[in-house]
Order: sequence, then structure tokens, then C-alpha cells
Amino acid sequence: MSKTVSLQLLLATRNEHKRREFARLLAREADAHVRLLVLPAGVALPPEQGGTFAENALPKARAAAAATCEASIADDSGIEAAALAGAPGIRSARYAGEHASDQENLEKLLREAPAGSALQYVCAIAYVDCAADVERVFEGRCSGRLAAAPRGRRGFGYDPAFLPDDGPAGLTMAELSDAQKDAISHRGRAVRSLLRFLEEIDRR
Ligand code: IMP
Repeated sequence: MSKTVSLQLLLATRNEHKRREFARLLAREADAHVRLLVLPAGVALPPEQGGTFAENALPKARAAAAATCEASIADDSGIEAAALAGAPGIRSARYAGEHASDQENLEKLLREAPAGSALQYVCAIAYVDCAADVERVFEGRCSGRLAAAPRGRRGFGYDPAFLPDDGPAGLTMAELSDAQKDAISHRGRAVRSLLRFLEEIDRR
């Protein structure tokens, strides 16, 4: 991103893993020219009721932007297994039950889909700027395969069982460095699309 672009974005999430990944990605990709604001404690985010990642991300960004008048972003993400007709998809965080842990969700995926079968991470980032009357959604994807058993201690969620097609052969996403994950991840790709768009509107 051009060093002349300087702006602030409010990130509509209470998920600490996501906040950290966004902060890291924006610092890396935009040379710290994007300041990330945290969601104020009093702002309620709507429940996820959409049928797609984009339909879940947009209401969160709208709610944050309406409550704060800040240009806001929100994401919805998950993993799709080809052997399960795209499940768990938008239900990735709740796959093994409403309050399931990352570990329980991961174990369920390993039980239900065969090792080596195709997977895809998807991330939709919604951007809402009420002042400029702009709403956009940017999607990023990352394809891979299911590992036979979980490996690695980095990342979060399904990373220990995800063998990315674009990563170093045989390593799970949880065995990659932050920089290696950011270069190929669904969230990294969606963030880069968002930044290209912001750069474009800045030039107009
Ligand atoms: P949500 O976007 O808060 O609905 O949750 C997305 C869920 O998808 C997370 O709880 C993780 O289980 C999974 N997920 C999304 N992105 C990643 C990732 O980068 N690594 C591992 N799991 C992820």
C-alpha cells in the first residue's frame, strides 16, 4: 500500500485471535499506515444469521460503523470440507456444538472427513463507511488437504489439521511462521484485496 495512504479502521470483533491476525497483517501489508481501532465495550454486534460468510460479516461492520461513525471492518471465516459437501462452512466455530472449543471442532473434522481430502478456508471482510456511503465485501480463499493427525502449535482453530496447497510440502498451517501463514491465508488474501480498494479510493 502506498505510504501516502493513512487511515483508521475499526475492527468489529471480540475474537482475540482475529484481532491479532488483523493487526499483524495490516502492519505488514500497509506499513503501519492503517491504524486499527478496537470495538468499544458498549457496542453490541448482531448474531450471525446469514447463509454466507459475506451475509454474516456485513451486519457486524454496519453495526460498528453506525454506533461509532468510524469506517469499520468485520470478518466471517471458516473451513469447507469437500467430503462433507462444504460443511462446517459458516458453522465452523460451532461445528461440535454451540460452545465447542477449537480442539473439539478440530477432532470432529478429523473424525468425519478422510485424511488427504480437500479443504478450503474462506474469509469475507466487510467494509462499511457511513460517511462516504460505501459498503464492500472482499473474499479470500486458501485451499488445502486434511492431515492424518494434528501437528504444530501456531495459529488457531483448524490450523493443526490443515495442509495448505501453497505452503511448504507436508507442513500444517500450525507449523508455519506468521509470515508464511499471512502470505497464503484466506485472511491475508482478503486483507490485501481490501487494501487495494482503499488505495484506489484514496487516489480518486
Ligand atoms: P467466526 O468467523 O468467528 O464465525 O469463526 C470462524 C471459525 O473458523 C473459527 O472459530 C475457526 O474455527 C475457523 N477459522 C477461521 N479462520 C481460521 C484460521 O485462519 N485458522 C484456523 N481456523 C480458522
